[in-house]
Amino acid sequence: MTKRGALSVLGSIAGGFFLTIASISHWLYHHRGRRRLGRRLLAAGAIADGLFVYSTLVPNFPLGGKPYFSGRREGNRIALTFDDGPSAPYTAQILDTLKKEGVPATFFVLGENARRHPELVKRIEIEGHRVGNHGLDHSILMFAGGRQALAQVEATDRALRDAGVADPAPVFRAPHGWLSPLAMRALSRRGYLVTGWSKGVWDTALPGAGTIISRTREILRPGNILLLHDGWSGPAEEDRSQTVEALAEIIRDARSRGLQFVTVEQMMREEETL
Ligand SMILES: [Zn+2]
Repeated sequence: MTKRGALSVLGSIAGGFFLTIASISHWLYHHRGRRRLGRRLLAAGAIADGLFVYSTLVPNFPLGGKPYFSGRREGNRIALTFDDGPSAPYTAQILDTLKKEGVPATFFVLGENARRHPELVKRIEIEGHRVGNHGLDHSILMFAGGRQALAQVEATDRALRDAGVADPAPVFRAPHGWLSPLAMRALSRRGYLVTGWSKGVWDTALPGAGTIISRTREILRPGNILLLHDGWSGPAEEDRSQTVEALAEIIRDARSRGLQFVTVEQMMREEETL
């Protein structure tokens, strides 16, 4: 399901629900003389509808299990993550910077992009980073059943292993952070750690490297999971050069605040043992 498809399904469900509630309220109010009940039902329906839309659209909303979107506020750990890759030439450029700075990161790759660039996913692992799972083709899992979600994740896992990744990380991040409770449960049962992010800096909107750096600066705090993009999900090529350009400065900023980069998985595991 595409983003647009998912949003129109969401609109139909929320709209249909509200129309039903509104007509029952109308009937109670005008035809049964139950004015107070009619008004209350309408208000409750509007609130329930709003909550439904909110919980579906907001990434990290803990419906059906809580995704991991930030770590401990104490300490000095911070995690750097890249979504939607790998892509050429950006993933290689990002890897070069990470190598130069000695910083580990987590790449939430798309299975389709891994098939396109097997040498890059392999390189991510070889250079000490973790290859996480972002689904096969960026299908929206907002209304997905468990089986559909597992199919996305398993196809990606196969693509990674075919590319020579020996040990894909058991971390999954849903496209746009939208995940149905059923999908969340199925993935957790399968051993995946479902991961979100602390706050987006919208590098995909190409606001300029300077803006990406300053937006990131605001969220350089212990326990945060930073989200950047080294690739894209559609067939048309997109520009990630601003993210590449911003990266070294982001790393320097974090270090000047005494922060230490770890992979998402490492951040979670360390907390389990504390
Ligand atoms: Zn994505």
